[in-house]
Amino acid sequence: MTDTLSTRLRQVGARLADACRQAGRAPDAAALLAVSKTFPAADLREAYACGQRAFGENYVQELQQKCEALADLAIEWHFIGPLQSNKTRIVAELAHWAHSIERLKTAERLSAQRPDSLPPLNVCVQVNVSGEASKSGCAPEEAAALARAVAALPRLRLRGLMCIPEPTADAARLAAQFAALRALAEGLRAEGLPLDTLSMGMSADLELAVAEGATLVRVGSAIFGRRGQPQ
Ligand SMILES: *Cc1c(COP(=O)(O)O)cnc(C)c1O
Repeated sequence: MTDTLSTRLRQVGARLADACRQAGRAPDAAALLAVSKTFPAADLREAYACGQRAFGENYVQELQQKCEALADLAIEWHFIGPLQSNKTRIVAELAHWAHSIERLKTAERLSAQRPDSLPPLNVCVQVNVSGEASKSGCAPEEAAALARAVAALPRLRLRGLMCIPEPTADAARLAAQFAALRALAEGLRAEGLPLDTLSMGMSADLELAVAEGATLVRVGSAIFGRRGQPQ
């Protein structure tokens, strides 16, 4: 098993570097976030031993458990799941990043609850680029106003935008949705917001995302294997 996880991690790293080169970007232009939801702390420890430092979790309770179990490691924790406003405190206290900001109210709570002893929480505004009714994220036409409001909160640092495209194997549709997120970020940058992050791309589509400018890909199953139920 040990070899399997380290081999997969290496393979994903190679895919990512190749995708960057193919896109004419520096081989390290996109960073790897290892999405560890539902996998036991031992698996994260193993990936950490292979050099992985950034891990993404979707469930607040699971984030809390793993932070405790892995407190001896210098992990950079990213919260990437839907965030209800009654669960913001744990994220504000434990995470280094939150990718799933879709409402100003949640962002305000995170900012108010971020401990003074910690640097500002890095955040991304999640945008529903596919327009599916069931999807998380703010509407594309609301993204700029939300991003400006989030950027003004004292204990948050707006780093960029995040999306989950529609689940389709249609590369052209995926590419168009990634490109839409990038265009939104470029518009905000043109206004002077210092965004440096496009959080997009997962196990199945990281190459397409990197080709459209992803700087942080969120990869779970290609590293850890098939997922079961939340811990
Ligand atoms: C689970 C998850 C991922 C990882 O998906 P894989 O297909 O397993 O790589 C990425 N982003 C978010 C928001 C997720 O919930």
